Formats: sequence, C-alpha cells, structure tokens
Amino acid sequence: MNSSSLARSTSSAEARPVIRERGQREVFCGLTGIVWLHRKIQDAFFLVVGSRTCAHLIQSAAGVMIFAEPRFATAIIGERDLAGLADLNDELDREVGKLLARRPDIKLLFLVGSCPSEVIKLDLGRAAERLSKHHMPAVRVLNFSGSGIETTFTQGEDACLASLVPEMTESDERRLLVVGALADIVEDQFRGLFAEIGIDAVDFLPPQHAADLATVGPNTRYLLAQPFLGDTAHALEERGAVRIDAPFPIGVQGTTAWFKAAAAEFGIAEAQVDLVTETRRARAAGALERYREELGGKRIFLFPDSQLEVPLARFVANELDMQLAEVGTPYLHKQHLAAELEALPENTRLSEGQDVERQLDRAREDEPDIIVCGLGLANPLEAEGYTTKWSIELLFTPIHGYEQAADCAELFARPLRRKRRLEV
Ligand code: SF4
Repeated sequence: MNSSSLARSTSSAEARPVIRERGQREVFCGLTGIVWLHRKIQDAFFLVVGSRTCAHLIQSAAGVMIFAEPRFATAIIGERDLAGLADLNDELDREVGKLLARRPDIKLLFLVGSCPSEVIKLDLGRAAERLSKHHMPAVRVLNFSGSGIETTFTQGEDACLASLVPEMTESDERRLLVVGALADIVEDQFRGLFAEIGIDAVDFLPPQHAADLATVGPNTRYLLAQPFLGDTAHALEERGAVRIDAPFPIGVQGTTAWFKAAAAEFGIAEAQVDLVTETRRARAAGALERYREELGGKRIFLFPDSQLEVPLARFVANELDMQLAEVGTPYLHKQHLAAELEALPENTRLSEGQDVERQLDRAREDEPDIIVCGLGLANPLEAEGYTTKWSIELLFTPIHGYEQAADCAELFARPLRRKRRLEV
C-alpha cells in the first residue's frame, strides 16, 4: 500500500458489505466532547443545562486533567423547574449574568442541551439568541445539544462546530479550512507543514480564540481532520465551502495523503509534499518499526464508539500489520470515509451501529488480542480476560500527524504489554 493510493476513492469502497445493527448501544453522550473542546477554544465556556448526572459525567471525564479555572459547568435543572414551578429562562439568564460578571475572560458561551433540557423542551436556541443580544459585543452566546437522546460521544464536537458555522463571516478569499479539534501541538505542526508546502492561507475550526473564527465562502476549501463531523461539513457546504476528498491524517500514510490532497487542490505538485515531508516521514516510519514488531499479527476488534474506528483500523492494519477482526463504527459516512474504506484490507468485517449483545458474541468468537471499546464495555471484557483499550483515550491523546504516529501505536501496545507482565 503506498500513500497516494489512500487519496482516491473508488466505487469498490461503496460496494463493501457492512453489518448494520440498530439495537442496544453502549456509548457516551455528546457532552463528552466538552472535555477536549474546552481546552481548545481558550476563551469559551460550556454551560451544560442539565441534571446532576450530566455534571458528574463531565466532572469525572475531565477530572483526569487539572485546570486552575474550569471552562465548563452545569446549570442543574431542579425539581421545581421540571415540575414547571419556576421560570427556567429567568433562572438561566440570572446564572449566565452572574457567570459573565465573574469571568470577564469568557468571550464565547455555549449553552449545551442535555437529556433533561430536551425532555422539558427548553428552547436553548431562543435562550442563546436572547442572551447574545444582551451580552454582545463582549460575549457571543451559542447553543448546541450534547444530549444522549440525540448524540453519541464525538457528535457533541460536531454539534458544537456546526453551531459556529453561521457565525463565520462571508468571504471570497481562497483559503484552506482544517476542520476538527486537534491538539495545539498538532495544529502548530500542521500549520508549519502547510506553510512549507506553499499553502499559507490556512484556518482551523475550532479556532483557539473566539475572535479568530475563520471566514467562509465559495472559495473556501475544507479538509476534515476528524471523521465525525457530518453536520459541520453540511453546514459549511451550505455556506459554499467545498470539501477536499482525503483520508484522515492518522499514521504516516494517512498524513501524507491528507497533505497531498490539499496540495493538489491548491495546484502544488505532489513532489513538493514529498520533499517537505521526507525527514518527518522517515522519522515516523522508523519510530513505527518497533511497534510493527510488537503488534504485527495481533488481532484487534473495534467496537463502535468514536467514529475514529475506520481510520484507526486502516492505520493499524497497513502500518502496524495488525489483523482486523471487526471494525465497528456508530455511523459510516461513505463519502467522508471513501478513501479510508478503499485502503482497508480486502474482506475486512465492517459494522455500523450496534446491537451490543450480538456484537459481544462475535467478539468472543473471534478471541481478539485487543478490543477497542467504550468504558462501559471495557471492565466486563477485562473481567472475561480480554485486553481492552478505551476508545476515549484516542480522543484525549494527540494521535494525528507524523510526530504522533508512534504515540498512536503506543496506545495499542501498552495494554498488551501490561497484560504480558501480569501473566509472567
Ligand atoms: S446528557 Fe443525558 S446521557 Fe448525557 S449525562 Fe446528561 S442525562 Fe446522561
């Protein structure tokens, strides 16, 4: 498999058989996205309008990181609110007023919907409009839903980014827009590489600061950095932006093909990308060598959780020689994943959606060496003797780009090493 073969999609990807299941699911809700988004947009604040359960979820998920000033909180909907005995909108306005008075550093406030706010039909869109009118120009107030009824895990980021698109200023300038939250270190590396390749007009969505929100228009060409951004892509296209077809920048091959796709769109020769990336490619390939020895031949089963499963499967199969038992994903976006699907080994078992008991049966039958899954499944599977990797870690750890390719491999190698040590 060479890198350029990742850049094209063909009809054979469309033709791959997919197991489609619509049963019981074991996934986190979209509130989880706040855990990495609040680190990314440095002057944003995420106010979840939800229950104590929502507050616990966010606090325990984000609790692995230490922050002096948290940029998220939960406005708890109490029993009086649920019973309709209090005017929730008045309470919300009061809480937001107090928060913004205390935290003048906040420039962008997201009201984040949850299951309870959805069940009581609290109109957060109108609340955001009302509050924006009141607090602009100092603070812009937007809303999106992270409710478990509507979203799973990474769809929270999609909903958040989609809510930013209408706020982008119209422009005819020909610019590249990289879409999807990336660790700052990865964003810096990518910005540097684009400049070396010859693409200087590059923006990132989400921006690091609210005031740096990119412009958009018919000459915007956007490149997805994450595979779970269907609604954001749709919103960008409504504003005239055009997607560059590419795989995702995971692993050496994916990263190279991603840069080449952008270069081709901007009229830059493939040879220029080869030249600029040569040293980094060689270093990353060298770093992957020892992981290939360690992981080559190991069977991996990916449960549907983050939507990163297909690019990850392509990376571990093609660059680490792992064997794919099953590649499950909550949602298979055939257009966005076309180049990835094309690069998967023949006969890869793909599944979309979940019927958790049936999928567990298939996993037990396969007896994989490692299972990638959500937290809810990991403990029971470990108790059965399987080695697992929490898929959420693949969102918390920088895995995109050349420098991070070995870190991504390490995430799969570590639990297997721990298991070996325990067996000694
Ligand atoms: S949004 Fe729904 S699923 Fe998510 S923590 Fe709150 S109640 Fe639970």
